Amino acid sequence: MSCVLVIEDEQAIANIISFNLKREGYDVVCAYDGVEGLKEALSDKADLILLDVMLPGIDGFEILKRVREKSSVPIIMVTAREEERDKIMGLDNGADDYVTKPFSVRELMSRIKANMRRSGKGAEKPADSREKYGPFELDRALQQISKDGEPLELTQREYDLLCYFFASPSKVVSREELMEKVWGYEYVYGDLRAVDVAMRRLREKTESDPANPQYIMTRRGGGYYLQI
Ligand code: CA
Repeated sequence: MSCVLVIEDEQAIANIISFNLKREGYDVVCAYDGVEGLKEALSDKADLILLDVMLPGIDGFEILKRVREKSSVPIIMVTAREEERDKIMGLDNGADDYVTKPFSVRELMSRIKANMRRSGKGAEKPADSREKYGPFELDRALQQISKDGEPLELTQREYDLLCYFFASPSKVVSREELMEKVWGYEYVYGDLRAVDVAMRRLREKTESDPANPQYIMTRRGGGYYLQI
C-alpha cells in the first residue's frame, strides 16, 4: 500500500485529507508540526509527502530542503492563497507540485494520484475491488456504485456521501458531520440545508419510493443513517 505523509498543522484539514486518502486506498501518516513532520519525512516511509508551508517549529521550506538532501520522494507543497512567492520558491527548491488553499479535496486527490503515477507509485488496489453493502455494490477502482446490479448515475458528491455511509452502516450521521467530512473545505461557508438537498437527490436515485425510503433513513433531529 502506498503511504502518504501529510504534514499539516490544521487538524481539521489533515483529517479531511486523511479520510479521503484512506478511502482511495492509501496508507496515511499525519504530522501536525514541523519537527514531527521532518522526523517522519526523513524516516523514508512515505511514497509522497503533502507539505504545508506555514508550520509551527520548522517551516515547509526547511523541511523541503532537508528532505531533498537525501530523497527524491514526490513532494506537493500546500500554500495559502496570498503566498504567491511561496509557489515559486517551493518549485525552485525541488517541490514536485503545489496546491493553493483553499483547494477542493477532489483536485488534491487528482494531484496526488498524478504525482504518484509520475514517480511510479500508484495506489495499489486489490484485484477485485468490489464491496457489497446490502443491495449496493461499490467498485472503488471504477468509482461506481450499483444497486441490484444496475449502475447508479451519481455525481461525485453523491458518490462521496454513499461511501461515507458505507463506511459505517446504521450509524446516525449528523448534517454537521456530513458537511465537514464530505463537503470538506466548503463547510465553512456552507449551509446545512445543502445536506438535505443532496440527501433528497441521493434518495431519488437510490430508492424505489423516495418518499418512503428503505435504505437512506432520517433520524428525526439526529441526522441520517444507512439501513442495509
Ligand atoms: Ca499551516
